[in-house]
Amino acid sequence: MKELKEVFDRLNIEFDEERESKYKGYMDDVLELNKSINLTAITDRDKFIEGHYVDSLACAFLQEFDKARRVVDIGTGGGFPGVPLAIAYPDKEFVLVDSLNKRIKIINSLCEKYEITNVKAIHGRAEELARKSDLRDSFDMCVSRAVANMSTLVELCLPFVKTGGFFVAYKGPESDEEINNSAKAIKTLGGTMDRIAAAEIGPRGTQHRLVIVSKERETPKKYPRKPGTPGKTPIR
Ligand code: SAH
Repeated sequence: MKELKEVFDRLNIEFDEERESKYKGYMDDVLELNKSINLTAITDRDKFIEGHYVDSLACAFLQEFDKARRVVDIGTGGGFPGVPLAIAYPDKEFVLVDSLNKRIKIINSLCEKYEITNVKAIHGRAEELARKSDLRDSFDMCVSRAVANMSTLVELCLPFVKTGGFFVAYKGPESDEEINNSAKAIKTLGGTMDRIAAAEIGPRGTQHRLVIVSKERETPKKYPRKPGTPGKTPIR
């Protein structure tokens, strides 16, 4: 957990025993459950800490995150980046969304077990949940990692963000083309490309980046389109 402590030092948050035991418990249980239910491709503890915990915390360095109180994580899988952020920031509220109910049930039960009380995981497709009035236009920030290409992703994510809020996509080093191709989708959904920030932290030797989109206008009612369409025919 030394690497994780270093990140906490840089974020000026205390890596106290309570947090450490939550991170450890969550990881141990995910790795154990992973033997029967696919939650992550990572099976090694050090790689888990680096690839899931340290990498997920990258967005905590952004000033936009500092101000956000309510955050939604779309396509959270085994709870990333949502759970590591929630353990670090107990005063923020996190809603985690995934279309696979098995994963959602596990996240909710582990969050209950380890008293990660600021996480609520919801089962459903982003295309459908974004139409619910308590979720649409209601988050200060949306985050998403490893879910879809940037054009598809903005259609799945921006509807959840309040006007004045932000969407942050975790992307790899080879994402120039998909980012360039997403200009029309961003504009159509009511956003503006703010900037691309190099992740200050992240798995060693990689150049992870955070693509920051600000929401300037309400998303038109027709978006997101029906389930599957944003992936099949992205706005170009
Ligand atoms: N964010 C996690 C998981 C990435 S795998 C991580 O970085 O480790 C992608 C996840 O997105 C899967 O769990 C899949 O079920 C979910 N997903 C894909 N399309 C989705 C959609 N339209 N709505 C909700 N979840 C979706």
